[in-house]
Amino acid sequence: MVSRTIPVDDFDLILFGATGDLAKRKIIPSLYRRFLAGQMPEGARVIGAARSELDDEAFRKEVREAIAEFVSKPKRKPEVIDAFCERCSYIAVDAMGDAGWKELHDSVRDEVCKAFYFSVAPGIFGPLAKKLREHGIACENSRLVVEKPFGTDLETARKLNAELAASFDEHQIYRIDHFLGKETVQNLMAVRFANVLFEPLWNERYIDHVQITVAETVGVAGRGSYYDKSGAMRDMVQNHLMQLLCLTAMEPPNRYDADMLRDEKLKVIRALDPLPLSDVVRGQYKEGDGHPSYREEAENEDSLTESFIALKVGISNWRWKHTPFYLRTGKRMSRRVSEIVIQFKETPHSIFERDNGSQANALTIRLQPDEGIDMSVTIKEPGPGGMRLINVPLDMTFADALDGGDEIPDAYERLIMDVIRGNQTLFMRGDEVEAAWAWTDPIIEAWTEKRDRPHGYAPGTSGPEEALMLMHRDNRRWRDLDI
Ligand code: NAP
Repeated sequence: MVSRTIPVDDFDLILFGATGDLAKRKIIPSLYRRFLAGQMPEGARVIGAARSELDDEAFRKEVREAIAEFVSKPKRKPEVIDAFCERCSYIAVDAMGDAGWKELHDSVRDEVCKAFYFSVAPGIFGPLAKKLREHGIACENSRLVVEKPFGTDLETARKLNAELAASFDEHQIYRIDHFLGKETVQNLMAVRFANVLFEPLWNERYIDHVQITVAETVGVAGRGSYYDKSGAMRDMVQNHLMQLLCLTAMEPPNRYDADMLRDEKLKVIRALDPLPLSDVVRGQYKEGDGHPSYREEAENEDSLTESFIALKVGISNWRWKHTPFYLRTGKRMSRRVSEIVIQFKETPHSIFERDNGSQANALTIRLQPDEGIDMSVTIKEPGPGGMRLINVPLDMTFADALDGGDEIPDAYERLIMDVIRGNQTLFMRGDEVEAAWAWTDPIIEAWTEKRDRPHGYAPGTSGPEEALMLMHRDNRRWRDLDI
C-alpha cells in the first residue's frame, strides 16, 4: 500500500522563530518532506522570520543544514533541496518592536492562505498576534499555529486565549499537540469507530483498566531551568497524556468533524474525578548510569519538581465509572515507549483447566517505537499436547503496511498540511485547554502547598517503587517497559 498525497492549495507559511531549535529539528524538515512528496504546489512559499539579521541566502543555508541533519539520507535529493530552498525566504522581524513589519506586510499575499506559525517563546504569542492585526497582515484567510506550552495554569491559559482572541477568531487558531498528528492516534479513532468489533466492548463492563505510558530515556539537560518550572504534570500530562486519555475515553462523535470531536473530548475532561494526592506518585531521577541527577541537570539542588509522575484517574460517566485510567510519564526511564494499553477483563468463567496459560486480552496502541496496534489473544497451543493455551499477538505495525519501506510521515508533516487545508480536527480548542488546566491546577496546588517531595528513582528504570505500588494495591501491574 502506498500512502496517497493530495496537494494543498497555494500558501504563504510565515515561520516565526525560523532560526530556533524547533524550526530546525521539526518544522523545516517536515515542510521539505511534504515538498518532496509533491504536496506543496508551485505557489507555496515559506517565509522565515526572527530578529537575527539574515538575508535569504543565509537563511537558505540554515535550511540546507537543517535538512542535512534531520532528514533521512534517502530523502535528501540535491535537486529537490535546491528547488525547496527557492521557495524559502527570510525577513528580520522583531515581535516586540517595529523592525520588519512593513516588509512582512508587503511580502505576504492576501489571495492565498496565510499561515503564521509561532515557533517562539509563549511570552511573545500575544504580542505577535497583536502586531499581525495592527499591521494589517492577518485577514480572514489567515491561520495561526501556536506551539506548546499553552499557559502554565488556568489563569495564564485564559489570558493567552484572550490575547489571541483579540486578533484571531477561534476557527483560525491551531494549538499544536504533536501527539495528535501521530498515525497511531488517528488510527485509534479508526479502530474504535470504523469497526463494529471493539465499540460494544469499549466500556467498564469489559475493560478492566487502561494504561497510558509516555516514557523517555533522555533527561532534562539543556532545558533544565525551563523544565524545573514546569515538571511532568504540566509538560506532559496536561496536554499529551490528557489528549490520549480523551481519544480513548470519548463517546463517538456524530461525524469526524473538528468541533464535534472536540466537544466529545471536552466532555471527558469535565467528567474526570478530582484527584486525591493518594492517587498521585511523583518521582525525580537520581544520579546513575553515567548521568547526573535531575537536580544537577536542573541546576537546582533543592528542586521539588517531578521528572516522573504516575496517576490513577477516574472518569465519572456511565461508560467508565469503574474502569480506572493509569497514566505515567517520566524521563531517564529504561526505554523510550509511548503506548496506550486497553486491558480487557478475564472471561467470566473458564471452561479450561486452571493455570492453563490463558490471559485476558489486551489491545496495545503503540505510538513509539514501531507505530502500530497489537491485540493479544489466547489460542490453543498448536500440536498434540492436549488443550494448552497460549497468548499470541495479532500485530499490525504500520511501517509494514506501507510499500517500499516508506517512512511514516512525522506528526508535524500532517499537522502543518492540515493547517493549510483548514482542518482543525487534530488541534486543541481553547476551552479544551482551559478545562485540562482546571483539572490539573488543584492537584499541583495540593502538592505545592504540602511541599511534597518527589520519590527518587534510579535512571534506566520504570520509575519509583511507589508507582508500582499504585497499581499493585489494586491487584494490577504496569506493562513491562522493556518488552
Ligand atoms: P528557541 O530555539 O529559543 O527559538 C526561539 C526563536 O524565536 C528563535 O528563532 C528566535 O530568533 C526567535 N525570537 C526570539 N525573540 C523574538 C522576537 N522578539 N521577535 C521575533 N523572533 C524572536 O526555541 P524553540 O526550542 O525553537 O521553541 C520554540 C517554541 O516551540 C516554544 O514555544 C517552545 O516551547 C516550543 N516547543 C519547542 C520544542 C523543541 O523541541 N524545541 C518542543 C515543543 C515545543 P532570534 O533570536 O533571531 O530572534
